[in-house]
Amino acid sequence: MKIICPECKNDKEIKSDDIEVGRWFECDYCGVSFEISKIKDDGSPEIKIIEEEK
Ligand SMILES: [Zn+2]
Repeated sequence: MKIICPECKNDKEIKSDDIEVGRWFECDYCGVSFEISKIKDDGSPEIKIIEEEK
């Protein structure tokens, strides 16, 4: 299935096994890190950007 990068709106293909709260992904396009914060009732993941301290 696909998830949408919250930063650049490109989609990323992930395995359905990887849809799990707390799972991290990195966008292939803009390099931002984001995680699944919640699974909605319809089974689709809710995404939030991980703020990195620099
Ligand atoms: Zn992105």
